[in-house]
Amino acid sequence: MADLAATVADIAARLAQASARGRVADYIPELGRVSADHFGIAVVTAAGEEVVAGDGDMAFSIQSISKVFALVEALCRHGDAVWDRVGREPSGSAFNSIIQLELEQGRPRNPFINAGAIAVSDLIAAGDASSAIAAILARIRRLAGDVSIDVDTAVAWSESQTGYRNAALANYMRSFGTIAGPVDATLSVYFQQCAIAMSCRQLARAGRFLMAGGMLDGAAIISPERARRINALMLTCGHYDASGDFAFRVGLPAKSGVGGGILAVAPGRASIAVWSPGLSPQGNSLLGTQALEELAHAMGWSVFNPEL
Ligand code: GLN
Repeated sequence: MADLAATVADIAARLAQASARGRVADYIPELGRVSADHFGIAVVTAAGEEVVAGDGDMAFSIQSISKVFALVEALCRHGDAVWDRVGREPSGSAFNSIIQLELEQGRPRNPFINAGAIAVSDLIAAGDASSAIAAILARIRRLAGDVSIDVDTAVAWSESQTGYRNAALANYMRSFGTIAGPVDATLSVYFQQCAIAMSCRQLARAGRFLMAGGMLDGAAIISPERARRINALMLTCGHYDASGDFAFRVGLPAKSGVGGGILAVAPGRASIAVWSPGLSPQGNSLLGTQALEELAHAMGWSVFNPEL
């Protein structure tokens, strides 16, 4: 098997120089200001080794990766009642699509598309946006072991001023009762959780419990069954309408965000975070995906590898 530190250093050095880098998301104006030239990577192994390269200590907007942590928060508060609000099926549609909501009576396909994540934020908020975002933030800080992690208020404000589609999704779901609280409070939680800023190192640390069956430093964050289920959802739904292609190329549960980050989990082996702001047409980090594909192949990390 390849040497982890040498493999990570090699990937970071090559991808820092890559010429085709994808397009930075600019529909949230504040994200459009970030340079496509960044590339960062961090790996935390089950043995506790940390390997970080490139811009792996630079903070970026985690965006939809926050949907994983919000789902954990909702499951801890409401248990399986979460699944009364959202499904567990890949959508095959864009992350911000509204088309299935009308056909399926306002019930989002899964918690990782925007509609599903907004419904999860509503469950956590229960009308009180500030304590909900405080709880999500506290959970992420605990998982990462880092109290300095915070919301980038400029990004949250930027999205709240331009988030017409998300407002449409929320209002539409409110009409079906999928959202129970005030739409403004729900959207405030959603925009703020997406605007949390973290580095690859912080994100890889925050994903450790998913590599370890729900355990972190000897304490159970969630049950092993829930950890397995969240990993299953990340594998099948974590990259929207490119989830099948990601599973085909990388073979690991992972969640992307339009800030260009991806959190990936090699169960029992490693928690991995990559960041490169340029995106594919489906809104997933172009070089981040390539980096994970190369790393997973070199290390033999795939949930479909019989020896993992
Ligand atoms: N905040 C972003 C949005 O709602 C999150 C989308 C994403 O990361 N795919 O549009």
